[in-house]
Amino acid sequence: MKLTYEELEKKVAQLEQKASLVDHLQLEISNNNQFLDILLNTIPNPVFYKDIHGVYQKANDAFSEVILGIKKEQIIGKSLFELPEVIPSNLAQKYYEKDRKLFDNPGTQIYESEVMCADGNKRIYYFYKATVQGENRELLGLIGVMLDVTQLKENQRILNKKNELLIQLSYSDSLTGIYNRRKFDEVFPEKIKSFNRQNSILNFVLLDVDHFKLYNDTYGHYKGDNILRIIAATIKKRLSRKGDYFFRIGGEEFGIFFESNDEKKALKFIQVIKHDIEALDIEHKKNTMHKKVTLSFGLVSIINRGQESKKVYEEADRLLYEAKANGRNQIGFSVL
Ligand code: GH3
Ligand code: MG
Ligand code: MG
Repeated sequence: MKLTYEELEKKVAQLEQKASLVDHLQLEISNNNQFLDILLNTIPNPVFYKDIHGVYQKANDAFSEVILGIKKEQIIGKSLFELPEVIPSNLAQKYYEKDRKLFDNPGTQIYESEVMCADGNKRIYYFYKATVQGENRELLGLIGVMLDVTQLKENQRILNKKNELLIQLSYSDSLTGIYNRRKFDEVFPEKIKSFNRQNSILNFVLLDVDHFKLYNDTYGHYKGDNILRIIAATIKKRLSRKGDYFFRIGGEEFGIFFESNDEKKALKFIQVIKHDIEALDIEHKKNTMHKKVTLSFGLVSIINRGQESKKVYEEADRLLYEAKANGRNQIGFSVL
């Protein structure tokens, strides 16, 4: 069928219109590509795009320069395994498996990994990856964005350490370095409630320096402080077993939790501590009969489980009072 001249003119006009539309679209695509390239290279995070075969199709400056240390052109068109100078085979395998996992399960994937960077430093990165799908939901490839979290991790580590130290400090007595009253208040009821060891009993002892006010009055508060330090250090040497707890409950009063096979062994253990302090032979003229620094003790062996913590404390306190009343430098002892 032959077209008339007018029809031909119309067709030409239509084609010209299409051609100008194509030109316009091409310009827009080119602008968009340029925009994307600039955006990609301006982003400080390493970014890459791999196709379904794991072949790099795009990489930004950060990825090529900071991570691999080679030119983008050397990366594009290659897979993980084709860059052995910059990606060791064990790492290539690791990343390949991660990529496979994502392709098997399209969507997003986030993980943390240590990366050897181009400058020779190992850094920790978070990998944020997502699959790219075509119009018919067919897999085209994956995009990866990396975030350097080395400093963040380091700050976190320092913060955790400082927090640990703060917790430790909040539980420790500044004069003697042993646990303080705050720790005692937390541990005491918990320990009594939760103690559950076979063939073993829990013991609690309250101990108090004898006539310590008179010691301070005679030798001065400074020397008194030193006595408290020496007493704590001497007792601490005996407390290295699992389940041992040693507190300065207040002033010149201390508390100990320890486990033993039976109540006789518990009493023997406290006798050893009492003897340790006597053996220090620290002069205390005003300590009536003894003339040296001594301690009095209230020891409770908890034989029957399920005791109330208040009752345990009151019993230890009562025994300590008895030991004081009976002449000091002795051990009040009972079982509950
Ligand atoms: P008792 O044998 O009956 O326990 O007599 P005491 O004098 O030891 O008991 P009291 O409760 O009358 O006095 C306790 C003294 O402990 C009073 C206080 O000066 C002294 N003290 C408490 N805390 C400290 C401290 O941190 N450093 C010094 N140097 N002394 C302290
Ligand atoms: Mg005292
Ligand atoms: Mg006291």
